[in-house]
Amino acid sequence: MAGVDDSLDRVIGAKSAKLLAEQLDVRTVGDLLRHYPRRYADQGQLTPIASLTPGEDVTVVAEIRSCFSRPMQQKKGTIQQAVIFDGTRTLNLTFFNQHRLPHVLVPGRQGLFAGRVTRYGKERALQLTHPRYQLLDGDADKLAEFSRPLIPVYPATKDLPSWTIQLCVRQVFDVLDDPEDPLPAELRAQHRLLDLGAALRAVHRCDDRSQIAAAHRRLKWDEAMAVQLTLAQRRQQVLRRPAPVCPRRDGGLAAAFDAALPFTLTAGQREVGELLAVELAGEHPMNRLLQGEVGSGKTVVALRAMLQVLDAGRQAVLLAPTEVLAAQHARSLRAMLGDYGRAGELGSAEQATRITLLTGSLPARSRKQALLDAASGAAGIVIGTHALIQDRVSFADLGLVVVDEQHRFGVEQRDALRARAVDGTSPHVLVMTATPIPRTVAMTVYGDLEVSALRELPLGRSPISTTVVPVGEKPSWLERVWRRIAEEVASGQQAYVVCPRIGDDAAGEDTAGDPDEDGGRPPLAVLDLAPQLEEGPLAGLRLGVLHGRLPGNDKDVVMRSFTAGEIDVLVATTVVEVGVDVPNATVMVIMDAQRFGVSQLHQLRGRVGRGAHPGLCLLVTDSPEGTPGRERLDAVAATTDGFELAQRDLELRREGDVLGALQSGRRSGLKLLSLLRDADLIGQARQAARQLVETDPDLTAHPALARLAADLLDDQRAQFLEKV
Ligand code: ADP
Ligand code: MG
Repeated sequence: MAGVDDSLDRVIGAKSAKLLAEQLDVRTVGDLLRHYPRRYADQGQLTPIASLTPGEDVTVVAEIRSCFSRPMQQKKGTIQQAVIFDGTRTLNLTFFNQHRLPHVLVPGRQGLFAGRVTRYGKERALQLTHPRYQLLDGDADKLAEFSRPLIPVYPATKDLPSWTIQLCVRQVFDVLDDPEDPLPAELRAQHRLLDLGAALRAVHRCDDRSQIAAAHRRLKWDEAMAVQLTLAQRRQQVLRRPAPVCPRRDGGLAAAFDAALPFTLTAGQREVGELLAVELAGEHPMNRLLQGEVGSGKTVVALRAMLQVLDAGRQAVLLAPTEVLAAQHARSLRAMLGDYGRAGELGSAEQATRITLLTGSLPARSRKQALLDAASGAAGIVIGTHALIQDRVSFADLGLVVVDEQHRFGVEQRDALRARAVDGTSPHVLVMTATPIPRTVAMTVYGDLEVSALRELPLGRSPISTTVVPVGEKPSWLERVWRRIAEEVASGQQAYVVCPRIGDDAAGEDTAGDPDEDGGRPPLAVLDLAPQLEEGPLAGLRLGVLHGRLPGNDKDVVMRSFTAGEIDVLVATTVVEVGVDVPNATVMVIMDAQRFGVSQLHQLRGRVGRGAHPGLCLLVTDSPEGTPGRERLDAVAATTDGFELAQRDLELRREGDVLGALQSGRRSGLKLLSLLRDADLIGQARQAARQLVETDPDLTAHPALARLAADLLDDQRAQFLEKV
């Protein structure tokens, strides 16, 4: 008998085992059992010769009529020709340099023959060239195996055809001990799931499609549980640590800030704010993801949380994905706090704090000072880039980490920051993203976080209208794009023009998109387009250039002049994608827009319509109608609801891209589970996993479950947990 951990060579012989290992990285009995069929062919799909059409990949069952070898006419070498018969018609097979073949394909023998149908010769007769074959040899057993009503079709390779895998699987089941079931019996009963042995048997060796569907549902549970247990354990670990307790204080900075707020908070901001205030006062760390449309006012929410932490005598850090954003955050937080943000300066308020910006491009001296301020506690709020702060900044008493634009920030980085706290506590963590995340992705990729959302925009926000500009079909529209910018500038507004590439270099650091999207033409570049616009359609306007290769200081200078209205049109890469806030900008033109993803486009257009004037977003593309790139653009133009777009994006991208390596990888991992179709199942598994982990954090009572989760992580593919 054999168990799932046994090496395959013991069970199916060294030769087949070697093939499976080399071709598919399938090494143990368990690996093979988790190598599921891709689909199932009805017996009728073993094609009758009479119905073959050229170009098809087919498998036929037939008897050998003849097989001869002869020298080739023009070249060196030999050619073998065989004729097979399926009871109604004959078909020719051609092989090259297999002079021993006539000894193998002996007339009267039966076999399976698989290959692509082609035509040849004057008569344009159909044939299979170099087909793979499997002789059945009157082996009643094999014959029965391949005459079953449903034939599993396995992911296979040229040298390891599906039928060989099928025979190996069959051999395994002949000796298999029923595997231990990782899912507890109560859970299986509750969700009416097959036990593991039955599910595996059904998925590989069953003739009933409804049984196979039941097996799939069960096996998806294994995958969902592996992911959700990992996340639940991670969540539990954080929850068990002590937190820096930060109760609300009357008469502190937070109260003063609220009293001076020039607008009323939206209902969403108040609600989330209340939730955060309670969690910050708790004994265990807050661990929360805040989603909210661009401009929904997340920063204010975060700032109020930071002030509560400062009132408790601790520090807060705000992490941004880029230096531009970090600098902008520093400016806007200082502006919002006014006198309360200028501790140590003349005229500051009594309980004021100090906001310290810490970026890689700071001169060495200021940087040293900033590090000192963080370490001594002189800086209440430290703002910097993810990259920098993650390294080696120490804090006097870190209470809260706010991470802006989470989609660029993974679990590992979050953990690294948690380790920054003093005396064994773990700081509270608030991550914010304006990239709406579909529910299943949130549950899978950010499953260790609690999720809140700001769904309404503050009053007085202007609508953004989005139009696709198809310059392939309507070249003259491009001119109108530039004219439109000129008009906006003439009436005092500003504009962005975004290109996918920096230029002047094959691959700039912020080149966007898929090189296949425009049939080989290099995407438009900032450094090419800016001078063309300056000399051409936008002559006389004040143009600025912003991209990732500019030194940090220059970036800041450009951003500042744009904010101050000294630049009319900013020609930029996606460095302006996140967070940049210039309310006077009203037009966003995106060149080669087909190169950007849906959420990126949504982010980009969120840069306009932030002030009193309505925003306009123009998506310039030469992708023809009906192409995937154009479909994405139409989706973006059709709605401004970020959550709807996120769902649409998931559908358009197909989830393979979402989970990346996870689904294309080897062994285990997510083979059956679909983020698109299995939302309910994932939700149920998440609940089950959290319940289990609450009572049994290390899964000591469920060793098989622990292994299921560990296998997934093991598979280095847990990377997917880090980022989408
Ligand atoms: P987000 O970070 O979610 O994109 P911000 O916090 O940057 O949004 O807010 C965008 C702008 O809206 C800022 O200028 C901010 O001061 C302003 N704002 C935030 N909340 C409100 C509100 N309740 N009413 C009016 N304006 C607001
Ligand atoms: Mg923001």
